[in-house]
Amino acid sequence: MNVTAANKRNIYVLWLLIVPFAFYAALNFFPSNSYDYLNMIIYLLFLIAIMMISIPVDRVSITLERWIIFSLFFQYGVLSEMVFMQIAMFVLLFTLKSSTPKTFRFAFNSIVFSVVSLVGGYVFYAFGGSLQNMSLANFFIAGFIYASVYSLVNSALLILIFKMLKQKNAVTKKAVLWDFVVTILLLPFAIIFTLLFQQISGKAFLLIGVPFILVLLVTSKYLKSDILNDLLSSAAVIGHHLAESLRVDDVLRTFVEKIKNVIPYESAYIIDLRVGGNLIMLSCVEGEFQRKEAMNFSFPSKNNVKDGLDVEMTKMYLTRKSLSALNGFTFAPSVESVLAAPVKRDGKTEGFLILTSNQKYAFDEVQTKMVDLLTSYFATAMVKARYYEKTVEKSTRCALTGIHNYHYLEQKLDEEIVHFHTGEVQSLSAIMLDIDHFKSINDTYGHQSGNDLLVSLANLLSKFQHKGMTLARYGGEEFTIILPNFSKDEAIKLAELIRKDVEKSKFEIIPDLSDNNEPINVQMTISLGVATMPEDAKDGKDLLRNADRALYIGGKQAGRNRVGIYEENSGMKVTN
Ligand code: GH3
Ligand code: MG
Ligand code: MG
Repeated sequence: MNVTAANKRNIYVLWLLIVPFAFYAALNFFPSNSYDYLNMIIYLLFLIAIMMISIPVDRVSITLERWIIFSLFFQYGVLSEMVFMQIAMFVLLFTLKSSTPKTFRFAFNSIVFSVVSLVGGYVFYAFGGSLQNMSLANFFIAGFIYASVYSLVNSALLILIFKMLKQKNAVTKKAVLWDFVVTILLLPFAIIFTLLFQQISGKAFLLIGVPFILVLLVTSKYLKSDILNDLLSSAAVIGHHLAESLRVDDVLRTFVEKIKNVIPYESAYIIDLRVGGNLIMLSCVEGEFQRKEAMNFSFPSKNNVKDGLDVEMTKMYLTRKSLSALNGFTFAPSVESVLAAPVKRDGKTEGFLILTSNQKYAFDEVQTKMVDLLTSYFATAMVKARYYEKTVEKSTRCALTGIHNYHYLEQKLDEEIVHFHTGEVQSLSAIMLDIDHFKSINDTYGHQSGNDLLVSLANLLSKFQHKGMTLARYGGEEFTIILPNFSKDEAIKLAELIRKDVEKSKFEIIPDLSDNNEPINVQMTISLGVATMPEDAKDGKDLLRNADRALYIGGKQAGRNRVGIYEENSGMKVTN
């Protein structure tokens, strides 16, 4: 619940206005029986025990203590029931964890229960109920009306106060309905227990109370394991989604998105630990945004035992105070709970998942088990996606020179042609180049040295970086450069620069044909051809073919170590 200072003040004022008056009224205007203290203590213990065993029904968490309260009321009157509820609530403040402050919780519940008890009691006596012996029919009729009013006034009050505190959707229709159904179903228990208690006194607890708690415990365990099953099957679904994600980015996005459905969080951070113990942010979600940099979170750059982050086990930090155990980490001021889970592969921790919540006690044991399962799916999916990306990347590159290959060039050229047609790119130039007399270099120094020269040339070409430029090994000792938004003149200038650079460069090789393995410097030249869209070609194939033609006619045939320029309907031009 969102408890503001104004909310607190309102609820305390309301408490002062209502609760003392309710107790005064219960003491003075309602009948009571003589108190039997030993049995009343047993009542209280049963009340607290049953209130602590919640069972999940239809996504609403319900408790079944009403029959004890009702029986107490039938037996000893309104005041005893009111006092017991206050005591039980007080005990539960310390046993059931909640993000809402204790005094606020107590005041809130205290108001609701005193009003409900008073109105319920009034209606019971008004409809013929009494602390003395009644006929069974009377008991059932007055009891039914009492129980109905008790449940409905309870729901109405909750809705009213939540509205007053401007808390939306705190009480759902489903919760109101379940409260009523459960209350009416428990009424016969209350009546039978009361009648039995009047016959055999405290032994009624052994006959009805103890079996009730046992059945309740079994049911609660069973229904909670049902919830666990649901969670596990949603984990399996998330596992499938992760397995289907091919790219690393897809895996990261799917993981943080889907995990939110099973473990609600405010922010999620995925930290990589694989690079020499350094902690590196892989991805994070803060609010609506998934990014690479966190705005409201920082962490130490190196993993260290003293930082408190456990590389073995998933840990929960459920209050703001407990966060100080995470040394060197800073969280947004609103964060109250943190869940930190190691991401392990083959028993080795490769990273962390950190989830935060603005509520205290936001995470529980079941969720840590879920996280362990999901992080293991995540780790596997990441390995697969990284492998996939590496394989894809490898398949687009030439194994010898490391620059892109023909396959990549084809794809990239198709994309650039699309950009050209959509107007994103105004012109598209291609430079083809081929080493002059490379065969004789091979023959003189050996193929290994020839290969070394190809690598050196690829490195030299890679130094010419331009926006959007694609450099690829076309095949053999031929290379291609694609230049989006490069006019023909600009492309010719670049070709000329490259030609000159190669011409004046000395390439070091170790001749593998001679006996002495002393490195020597060799020189070589290249011939180039340039063509540009739209003037020289209508599509990608044309562009490469015409650049190739320019290379052979304007470059090679014209004497080599030249830039050939494609010219339609005429002989090729040569720049020098
Ligand atoms: P030019 O281009 O000037 O006409 O003469 P060239 O000797 O370079 O002739 P061409 O381009 O036709 O010959 C290509 C030669 O390049 C043939 C082959 O021996 C060599 N070659 C092609 N691919 C490789 C390679 O991967 N490694 C090595 N070492 N040589 C290669
Ligand atoms: Mg050649
Ligand atoms: Mg060639």
